[in-house]
Amino acid sequence: MIAPPDPNSGLYVVVLQIQARLCVDVGALGPLHFDAGTCLYVGSARRNLRQRIARHLAATKRVRWHVDYLTTNPGVRVVGAVVVTGASWSECALNQSLGASLDGAVPVPRFGNSDCRAHCPAHLWWHGGVVSLQDVAALVPAAQIVVGTARTAG
Ligand SMILES: [Zn+2]
Repeated sequence: MIAPPDPNSGLYVVVLQIQARLCVDVGALGPLHFDAGTCLYVGSARRNLRQRIARHLAATKRVRWHVDYLTTNPGVRVVGAVVVTGASWSECALNQSLGASLDGAVPVPRFGNSDCRAHCPAHLWWHGGVVSLQDVAALVPAAQIVVGTARTAG
C-alpha cells in the first residue's frame, strides 16, 4: 500500500528583501554581511507545510534555524513565500534551478543546507535587484503565492 501524498506538504521559497547593507549575527556562523537586494530561501516540509510557512513569515519567534536570524531582523522585509504542493521536484532540484535562473549569488556557503542531499552551494540565494513573488512563481511550475503579513521595519 502506498500512502497518498500529504496535501499539507511540499516545497517553498521564502522571499526576503534586504533594505540596506546589514550585519547579522547568525549563531555559530558568526556575524555575516548582506548587501541590499533580495534573498531567496528554499526549503521543504514533509508535513505541516502551512504551519512552516506561517512560522517563516512571523516576525517574532524563537530563533532555531539559520534563516530565522534573517526573518526576525528588523532590516529584513519578509515579502512572502512561493509554495508548491505535490511537486515532483526535489527541494535541491528546485533550489539549484532557481539559483541558475536568477543568476543568484551565494552570500553564505551552506546556509540552510542542514537537510541538503545534493551538494547545493547553499539553500539561500542573493540577487542585487528586486525579485518579486511573481518573478519566483513564474520560474516554478504549479506555484502558489503566500503573502506575508505586513509589518513595519525598525
Ligand atoms: Zn540542496
